[in-house]
Amino acid sequence: MTPPANPATRFDAPATGAVPARISGGFLDSPALGRVLAVLTGAGHQALVVGGAVRNALLGEPVADIDIATSAPPDETMRLATAAGLRAVPTGIDHGTITVVAEGAGYEVTTFRRDVETDGRRASVAFSDNIAEDARRRDFTMNALYADASGRVLDPVGGLPDLAARRLRFVGDARERITEDYLRILRFYRFLAWYGRGADLQALAACAELRHGLAQISRERIGHEMRKLLAAPDPAQAVALMAEAGVLSLVLPGADPGDLPELIEAERDFGTGALPVWPRRLALLAAHDAAGALRLSRDEAREQHQIALALDLSGPAAAYRFGRITAAQSVLIRAARGIAPPFGWCHALARGAAAQLPIAARDLPELAGPALGQALKRAETAFVDSDFCLNAQDLRQIALRAQGHPDIHDDA
Ligand code: ATP
Ligand code: MG
Repeated sequence: MTPPANPATRFDAPATGAVPARISGGFLDSPALGRVLAVLTGAGHQALVVGGAVRNALLGEPVADIDIATSAPPDETMRLATAAGLRAVPTGIDHGTITVVAEGAGYEVTTFRRDVETDGRRASVAFSDNIAEDARRRDFTMNALYADASGRVLDPVGGLPDLAARRLRFVGDARERITEDYLRILRFYRFLAWYGRGADLQALAACAELRHGLAQISRERIGHEMRKLLAAPDPAQAVALMAEAGVLSLVLPGADPGDLPELIEAERDFGTGALPVWPRRLALLAAHDAAGALRLSRDEAREQHQIALALDLSGPAAAYRFGRITAAQSVLIRAARGIAPPFGWCHALARGAAAQLPIAARDLPELAGPALGQALKRAETAFVDSDFCLNAQDLRQIALRAQGHPDIHDDA
């Protein structure tokens, strides 16, 4: 299929060639999925895999979860699944979603829908038996692709050529679609980061113009999208466009994306192993209150705080205080800011994380109260500064000398 003339795009990377018009293998080979689809199609309904699973299968990217869209009304889906001996749980019945469990795997089956009313945050929907209506309420053309059990792809809104060109395009008019649900502004940058090569200028302008509508969106939903956006292999361009449009400062006040390209480079140069991805990128942005802005969990917020503190320490000192993972995240951010980690830094972090202060309160019976606390603190600082080489005896001397204790003769 030949892509239509490329609309104006912001960064012009070449298209990577056509994507096939059908998918094969992968999740389609799952007998459980086949069973769920067959239960519905056997009764004369349409039942199709939709959205991210189809998009990613066509791109050859990993597929996370499989969503099914059907022309069957929700109660009919419940009835047919139960009659076929499958468990059916009405997990989102108001939106038409039934989770059907087959062979231990749960599939979200959602009846085709059309929007009846939207207010910028949520839509009231009506069920439909029309795939074209269902496609029109989805956000981007590359997210409105459907596949049947044989792998044949149905493309009601022209998503295939866009996907082939990696062109992220709203279904219909960008401004209209954004005012229906302002979260789509962030979803635009998220999918641009993951799958886009060109940013539609009209869409970019619409995101900038309508950005203040994001104030209506809950921080939980914003946080969800931002985590996913920052987890993209290389979100630097998308985040730079967000900053340029004034979107970034609205969702993450104080965020500075200047060093993000350098962080991505440092990740490639030094490797990231199994380190969590988005927390590092978020910490680099150094927003005023990322935890509040994105409604981070308590653990996530602590991690952000510790990475920020670790940035002022050497890698091994950070590993000693906060553990190897937080230290490694800070080492990568420091590398992005021009402080290259020394050779063998991974081992150095492991050593720092494993180090144990070889002195404790019971080794300083001469001291008590705040004096004891200060002496131990100084001993600990000396221990970290010595690259964890000082032994208990050295540290005892340092602790007591610092107190000016009369029993200690300063030979130095
Ligand atoms: P991922 O692999 O990251 O989960 P996805 O495409 O599955 O990507 P989801 O956020 O899980 O993304 O949404 C599933 C599908 O539902 C999308 O592909 C899209 O068709 C539709 N969708 C989700 N949120 C919206 C929205 N706010 N507006 C319109 N359509 C949406
Ligand atoms: Mg999904």
